[in-house]
Amino acid sequence: MAKAVVLVSGGLDSATTLAAAKSEGFDCHALSFDYGQRNRCELEAAAKVAASMEVPHLVMKIDLRAWGGSALTSDAIAVPDAEDSHGIPDTYVPARNLIFLSFATAWAEVLGARDIFIGVNDVDYSGYPDCRPAFIDAFTECARLGTRAVDENWKFQIHAPLQRLSKADIIRLGTRLGVDYSLTLSCYNPSGDGASCGKCATCALRHAGFLAAGIPDPTRYV
Ligand code: ZN
Repeated sequence: MAKAVVLVSGGLDSATTLAAAKSEGFDCHALSFDYGQRNRCELEAAAKVAASMEVPHLVMKIDLRAWGGSALTSDAIAVPDAEDSHGIPDTYVPARNLIFLSFATAWAEVLGARDIFIGVNDVDYSGYPDCRPAFIDAFTECARLGTRAVDENWKFQIHAPLQRLSKADIIRLGTRLGVDYSLTLSCYNPSGDGASCGKCATCALRHAGFLAAGIPDPTRYV
């Protein structure tokens, strides 16, 4: 069975991505980052999601708070409400997917995996540059050139199965694959016990997705 590294954040999209990777027959290895994010509950959600799908889960500790620069990694920047968002929002974490995919590539190389899954999406998303297809395509080539793949004449495949799906389509896909969305947490600003705020951009996007999919929203709100 071919191994794959799957980036799992604890959110709805990455849970669906993990289910999609499993359904394609991969021996999945979930990778999460304790990067100093504001909402610590998402790491617990990531662990629950991986356990629910019986997938080994590695949490890599890195400290993106060292330079901050995002509402998610700096106390000096507030999480904006959905209606405040324009351009690249304050919740963008500088080069986060570039960093995460680099770690995923390194782990994949050690595991002997050639496949990496990431739940990026450029339909219902927050406008982050590192979620776009041009970035994923360029990273694929970068991963090949920066690892033993280039000398051994193979390449990594970066799978982004949600890239072109609407949030409703993602929820329908995950529901079909048996994802328990009550385990996931999307909110940028949850309460201490992991309840979602219901006001931030990602809460709004997530709730609208359940409505559009015609599937009851299992999210616990404040
Ligand atoms: Zn929220």
